[in-house]
Amino acid sequence: MEFIDLKAQYQTLKTEIDTNIQSVLSSAQFIGGPYVAELEEQLAAFVGRKHCLTCANGTDALQLAFMAAGVGRGDAVFCPDMTFISSTEPAKMSGAVSVFCDITPDTYCLDPAGLERQIRAVLEEGTYTPKAVVAVDILGNPCDYDAISPICEKYGLTLIEDAAQSFGASYKGRRTCSFGYIATTSFFPAKPLGCYGDGGALFTDSGEVDALCRSICVHGKGPGGKYDNVRVGLNSRLDAIQAAILLPKLKALEAYELDARQAAAKRYSDAFAGKFTTPFVAEGCVSVWAQYALLAESRKQRDQIAAYLREKGIPSMVYYPKPQHMLPVFLDEPRYGETYPNASDYCARTFSLPMHPYLKEAEQRKVIETVLEML
Ligand SMILES: *Cc1c(COP(=O)(O)O)cnc(C)c1O
Repeated sequence: MEFIDLKAQYQTLKTEIDTNIQSVLSSAQFIGGPYVAELEEQLAAFVGRKHCLTCANGTDALQLAFMAAGVGRGDAVFCPDMTFISSTEPAKMSGAVSVFCDITPDTYCLDPAGLERQIRAVLEEGTYTPKAVVAVDILGNPCDYDAISPICEKYGLTLIEDAAQSFGASYKGRRTCSFGYIATTSFFPAKPLGCYGDGGALFTDSGEVDALCRSICVHGKGPGGKYDNVRVGLNSRLDAIQAAILLPKLKALEAYELDARQAAAKRYSDAFAGKFTTPFVAEGCVSVWAQYALLAESRKQRDQIAAYLREKGIPSMVYYPKPQHMLPVFLDEPRYGETYPNASDYCARTFSLPMHPYLKEAEQRKVIETVLEML
C-alpha cells in the first residue's frame, strides 16, 4: 500500500501526460513556452486571482514573496509553530528572525490570538520590526483569514499565504491561494497538485507585484531583458516539462480528485469518530486533505499505532514530529515567553494515514480495521 499513490494517478492520466511530455521533447523548448503560459493562466483562473507566476519550488515561491515584500535584516516574520521549515526559512536567509506563534487546538492552523500576542511582544521588546505574517493552510485546511487579515492590517504587516499544502481547498467560497499580498504553493510530487520533480507558484492580484516577481525570478531582469539586470534576484523557473505534466493533473484535480479526497476523508472520520480526535474543518471551509491526521490519546499510543501499522505493511507518517521552536536550527530564535502548548501537544500525538484520491475503499477499510485492531 502507498501513502500517496502517485503510480495509480499516473496510470489514470498516462496518455495525456506522455503526449504532453513528448510534445515538449519534440519542441525542444524546455524553459518557458506555451505550456508554462497556459498553466499560469489556468492556475490563476482556478484560484480566482489576477496573476500567477510559476517558479522552481514552493520554498523559492516564499523567498520571492519575501524579497518582493522587502523582508530583510532586523525584521520579524510571524508564522505558526506547527509547519514545515520552508515557511520562514527563506526570510531567515535574508536576515529576518522567525517568530513562532501557537496554533489553534482544533484547526491546527495559526491562532489569531497567538499571532497578536507575539506581534505585541515584538513591538514592546523593540529589537525587531514586525514585517510579515506567513499564514500556513496546514494539512490542506485553510487558516481563518477573516481573523488574520484584520490583524495584519492593524499592525501594517504583509500577509503571505503559504498554500503549499492546500491547493484546491477553500475558505468561505474563496479558493486558497487567493489570500494575502502574495500566496504561494508547491508542486512537490506529494502535494495535492504535484509535478514530477520540483515546482512552485505565486499568486497576486497586483500587476506591479507580479512584474516585480517576474524580474526577481530571472536574475532581476530589467525592461531591457535578462542582460539588463536592475536588482539581485534568483534563477527560479518551472520547467516546460513540469508545466506539461501539471496541466492534465489540474484537470483531474478539478474533475474528480477533489471529490475523491472528500469521500476518503469522510470515511476515515466516520470510522474514527469517538476513538481519536478527528480533523476539524471550520464552518464554510473545505480542506483538500493533503494529510489525514488523527490525534492519539498520548505520544505513547501514537508510537504504538505507528509501529503496529508498520508491522502490518501499512504506511503512516508524522506531520510533524517537532514544532518549529524545538528544531535545533531555531533554538535561538526569540520566543517572548511563548510556550506553544497547542503545537507541542499536537506534535506529540499526531499521526497521518494513507490519503490520496486513488485510495480504494477496500484498502481504506484495511487501514481502518488495522488501526482499530490496535486499540
Ligand atoms: C512543501 C512545503 C513548502 C515548500 O515546498 P517545496 O516545493 O518543497 O520547496 C512550504 N511550505 C509548506 C507548509 C510545505 O508543506
